[in-house]
Amino acid sequence: MSLRGSSTGSLLTIYTALYEHFGDPHWWPGETPFEVCVGAILTQNTAWSNVEMAISNMKGKGLLDPFALLSAPLDELVTAVLPAGYHNRKAAYLRSFSSYMVERYGGLITSMGQVPATRLRDELLKMKGVGEETADSMLCYAFNRPVLVMDAYTHRVLERYYGTSWHLPGPGTKGSYAAVQGHLMERLRGDALMYNRFHALIVLLAKDLCRKRPLCSDCPLRRFCDTGVEQTI
Ligand code: SF4
Repeated sequence: MSLRGSSTGSLLTIYTALYEHFGDPHWWPGETPFEVCVGAILTQNTAWSNVEMAISNMKGKGLLDPFALLSAPLDELVTAVLPAGYHNRKAAYLRSFSSYMVERYGGLITSMGQVPATRLRDELLKMKGVGEETADSMLCYAFNRPVLVMDAYTHRVLERYYGTSWHLPGPGTKGSYAAVQGHLMERLRGDALMYNRFHALIVLLAKDLCRKRPLCSDCPLRRFCDTGVEQTI
């Protein structure tokens, strides 16, 4: 398979242009690795503004700690995460994650962070409510590992960017996550910080300009992007 511009240079072009446009995104907005993991679970199927409210509630009740989260009454935790939606399910996921941390790592996220990335990813994927995107968000943003997070925004931007030469499976289809992630990580060799920023910049682009109806004339990628070139000639 060949993608127009699928060389390292092309992904670097995206990275560089977005970095110059948006600056350093300073992701992920969390004060501790545990808070980042909590946010990665809560952000599923909801807007980040709702997660912020839930995390603020948890902070107010002292629940951003695995021991406190496990010992608090369940209804208190459920009420705290209510703004993030699916509150019963997400409270159960947070308990499951905290329970694993406490039983296997003595509640120390630093001990968890010393596990090799591949093994840690396998462990995370076995937890309730942790899929590939959530596991990789934790690996990249809480544990500082060189892992590129994929999501629907990534698919949207890259499908438009590469146009007809994009032949990788679409979001939600079997194997698409690993296929797109593997493809990009082979072509954009980077460290944890670069992958951290790349994903964050793609999300900023998708929310700000590459929306459902793209605003190509204002986009820093318009000169390189198949869709942008078509829209602006
Ligand atoms: S030029 Fe348009 S389609 Fe291409 S990435 Fe930018 S906003 Fe999206």
